[in-house]
Amino acid sequence: SAATATHIQRNPAYSELSSDDVSYFKSVLGETGVVLDADRVAVANVDWMGKYRGASQLLLLPKSTAEVSKILSYCNTRRLAVVPQGGNTGLVGGSVPVYDEVIVGLAGMDKIISFDNVNGILTCEAGCVLENLSTFVENEGFIMPLDLGAKGSCHIGGNISTNAGGLRFIRYGSLHGNVLGLEVVLADGTILDMLTTLRKDNTGYDLKHLFIGSEGSLGIVTKVSVLTPAKLPSTNVAFLSCNDYTSCQKLLLAARRSLGGILSAFEFMDHHCIDLAMRHLEGVQNPLPASPYKFYVLIETTGSDESYDKTKLEAFLLRSMEDGLVADGVIAQDISQASNFWRIREGISEASVKVGAVYKYDLSIPVEKLYDIVEEMRCRLGDSVEVLGYGHLGDGNLHLNILSSKYDDNTLAQIEPFVYEWTSKQRGSISAEHGLGLMKAEKIHYSKSPEAVQLMASIKKLLDPNSILNPYKVLPQSIL
Ligand code: FAD
Repeated sequence: SAATATHIQRNPAYSELSSDDVSYFKSVLGETGVVLDADRVAVANVDWMGKYRGASQLLLLPKSTAEVSKILSYCNTRRLAVVPQGGNTGLVGGSVPVYDEVIVGLAGMDKIISFDNVNGILTCEAGCVLENLSTFVENEGFIMPLDLGAKGSCHIGGNISTNAGGLRFIRYGSLHGNVLGLEVVLADGTILDMLTTLRKDNTGYDLKHLFIGSEGSLGIVTKVSVLTPAKLPSTNVAFLSCNDYTSCQKLLLAARRSLGGILSAFEFMDHHCIDLAMRHLEGVQNPLPASPYKFYVLIETTGSDESYDKTKLEAFLLRSMEDGLVADGVIAQDISQASNFWRIREGISEASVKVGAVYKYDLSIPVEKLYDIVEEMRCRLGDSVEVLGYGHLGDGNLHLNILSSKYDDNTLAQIEPFVYEWTSKQRGSISAEHGLGLMKAEKIHYSKSPEAVQLMASIKKLLDPNSILNPYKVLPQSIL
């Protein structure tokens, strides 16, 4: 267990689970809400990549805020450590126990509470799966402000707790802007009602922001209200290739200038990603098969006028080819072609884990430097591993994946701390959107000043004085 964090010892201040504890939880949640079955608990102990594995014996499945409150109040008094778990698709080891923490799964809290179809405001429980919410609001003529490859499993509560970015960030921005209200249960069981649906509210400190992106370390999110943009009728997707990284950058600027308001995604992948996707994803086709190109870009536009939008994209593509920015390109002619393009981009994570071991880095770097780290890493590591660079270029967010047949300490020592030092030198972020979790809790200083980290620790101590919520994650152990 905890192979990836052997340097962290179990904190002896935490109690061990007793049969009395289990009886108490049964009295609150009933038999179905208390999962002791070894197979089901084993699934909840391991993360999506199969990289982080805990040794919890207990999974709790509350069905209401009141139940979450009773669980936390009890765990706080008993000093039982807790891991909040949504869809368990997180990529930094934040959603699974490190040792024997009690897992509190939110999957049973999946009700839509209300939808204001004039203002597009959705209020729902935290355990709703993102894709289900998307389908629901689309039927009402709206879309979710975020979309990501894990949509079929991740929960909105998990998205908010990781401040997930994803594929629509370039158009609709961060969850800090789109979340209007939250209900959160604090470590001592206090229910903090911040569930407003107001666009504007400057009464004091905006506390909900503390919980957006705090990865379950300050409270359990139980309800959310989210602003959803109107669904626009015309979507077009283009798949392009570029001969070098400079052209990708210039293309981004050109897309911003000429597509402006209708630009809804600008994703880039190097050719290693395309090769990988073709090898490991079933049923996908390379839209530009004749191409030994180095880079690929997926551009999506979303607007209100079918023919105008398409003409605009076609003109942009033509001009970019004439200017030599784009080597080759194709615009999807129907939905199935468009989803094939998206499947390639969204399937890279899934294809990566099929290789065996994947070292994942999620970096914010100034766009002009963003690909340098991929090339440097390739030089450092040689041919024994595969180095991929892709991501949300429009947001300055690189996903650097290093694939190997198995995890080993030598490879890791070649990658870290180099990758963090390099990013820090560029004043970048060592976590653009995945969070710190267990993987990067001890690395926060590469992106945050000592004063900022100290203030975070003070906030953590104020809200969770016994440190029962998601221990060993987010902040360095030494300052808690
Ligand atoms: P989990 O993985 O269960 O938990 C994540 C963290 O949040 C943990 O620390 C957990 O303790 C905490 N948490 C979960 N629910 C709650 C709650 N209700 N209250 C308090 N804390 C809670 N991320 C991006 O930002 N952009 C992407 O484009 C993107 N693409 C992805 C593609 C794939 C294929 C995969 C597997 C992951 C991707 N991710 C991406 C990672 C992303 O962080 C998660 O997918 C998602 O936001 C996590 O939601 P979840 O419900 O699975 O949370």
